[in-house]
Amino acid sequence: MNQVEALVLGLGGMGSSALAALASRGIEVMGLDQEPRPHDRGSSHGGSRIIRRAYFEHPDYVPLLEDSFERWGRLERSTGASCLHRTGVLLVGPTDSSVLRASLASAEAHEVPVEWIGPDRMRHRFPQFASAPGWSGLLEPGGGFVDPEAGVRAHLEVARRAGSVIRRPVRVFSVDGDDSGAVVRTEEGEIRTNRLVIAAGAWSASLLGDRLGVPLVPHRKAMVWFDPIDPESCSPGRMPCWLVDDGDGAGCYYGVPAWPGQSSPAGVKVGFHGPGTVVDPDRPGEIPEEVVERFVEDLAVRLPGVLGRPVAARSCLYTMSPDEHFVIDRLPGRRSMVVVAGFSGHGYKFAPVVGEIAADLALDGGTSSMADFLGLDRFTGDGSV
Ligand SMILES: Cc1cc2nc3c(=O)[nH]c(=O)nc-3n(C[C@H](O)[C@H](O)[C@H](O)COP(=O)(O)OP(=O)(O)OC[C@H]3O[C@@H](n4cnc5c(N)ncnc54)[C@H](O)[C@@H]3O)c2cc1C
Repeated sequence: MNQVEALVLGLGGMGSSALAALASRGIEVMGLDQEPRPHDRGSSHGGSRIIRRAYFEHPDYVPLLEDSFERWGRLERSTGASCLHRTGVLLVGPTDSSVLRASLASAEAHEVPVEWIGPDRMRHRFPQFASAPGWSGLLEPGGGFVDPEAGVRAHLEVARRAGSVIRRPVRVFSVDGDDSGAVVRTEEGEIRTNRLVIAAGAWSASLLGDRLGVPLVPHRKAMVWFDPIDPESCSPGRMPCWLVDDGDGAGCYYGVPAWPGQSSPAGVKVGFHGPGTVVDPDRPGEIPEEVVERFVEDLAVRLPGVLGRPVAARSCLYTMSPDEHFVIDRLPGRRSMVVVAGFSGHGYKFAPVVGEIAADLALDGGTSSMADFLGLDRFTGDGSV
C-alpha cells in the first residue's frame, strides 16, 4: 500500500490546478487520472472557455473572478503559456433580458468596467447581432476566453516542477475516509493519504454516491464550429466572445471568434448554455445530427448571414448541481476529503482560484477566499447562494 501526504483525484481543469497549488506549497502530493494524458472525454477541452467579470450567475463570484484573472496572468508569466485571450465579451438581448440586467447589476456592485450599447448603436458597432429590433448589448472589454488545454498543461507543468508525482492512467474505483485520512482504491491497489482532493468532474457522483448529500448530474453538451461567411467580421478584432439571451429563460447561445493558433477545429465556436442530455460519463455518445441542425437554424436567426456551414461538432460534459452553483467544500464527517465539483457549465475560468481554495481547505480546513457561498451547507438551509 502506498501512503502520501496529499492526493488529487482527477487532473482535468480543477485537479491540475489543485495539484499545482499543493505542490507549490511544498506538500508531498500525488495526482491520479484515468486517462494517460490530458484528454477530450471530460469537461476541459475544445480550445476556449469564456471569462468575464460582469457575472449574471451571482455577484458573489466577482471577487473570485478578480483573483482568477490575476492568477491566469501569473500562470502565463511563470510557464510562458498563452492561456488568456482578451477579446472582450458582449452580451446581447432584449433590453429587459435577465442576463443583461443581472450582469449589469454585478458590474455595478463591483465596479467592473462595462459599456451599455443601446439598439441604435448596436446596429453600427456589432452588425453581426443586429437582427432583432430593440436588442441591446453589454460589452465588457476586459473579458475574453481562456484556452483550457493550455491551462491544464501549464498547471501540470507547475505541479511537476514543484515535485509532485503524477500517475496515469490509473482508474480510481472508490474513495473513503474520515476526519483524519482517506483511502483511494485504484486498479493498481490502495493509496492512503492525509488529505484528498476529489476533482473528478462528471464522474464525481459515481465516486461519491450519497456522501455528498446532493445530486451532481452529468449532461452532454455540443460544441459546434462554423466556417464564417466573412472571416473578417468573425475575427477577434471585430467579434468579441458573445452570448445571446432571447429572454425566454430557455438558455443562451454563446460563441468565441475564430482565432489564429486555435488548437481545436478552426472557425467560430458556438455552444448553447442550457440543459443538455443526461449521460453516463463513460458512454457519452456522439452529438446527434439534429442537434447540429438546430444550431444552424437558430443561429441563422440570431446572427443572420454571419456563420456558414458547420465544420465540426464535439461533445463535452457539464456536471450540474441542483442550483447550478459550484460545490467546493470538505465532506461532512470526512473532513480529510475536499470536493470541487458541480461546476454546472461555467467553472473553467475559475480554475486557478479553485485549485488554491482546494489546497486551503485540504491543508487548513478553511480559506480566506470568499468562497463560503459555495459550501455544502447551503443545501441544508445553513447557508444560501
Ligand atoms: C461545452 C462546454 C462549454 C463550457 N463553457 C464554459 C465557459 O465558457 N466558461 C467557463 O468558465 N466554463 C465553461 N465550461 C465549464 C468548464 O469547462 C468546466 O466547469 C470545467 O472544465 C470542469 O473541470 P473539472 O476539473 O471539474 O472536470 P474535468 O476537466 O473533466 O476533470 C475531471 C478529471 O477527472 C478524471 N477522473 C474522473 N473520474 C476518475 C476516476 N474514477 N479515476 C481517475 N480519474 C478520474 C477524468 O479523467 C478527468 O480528467 C464549459 C463546459 C462545457 C462542457
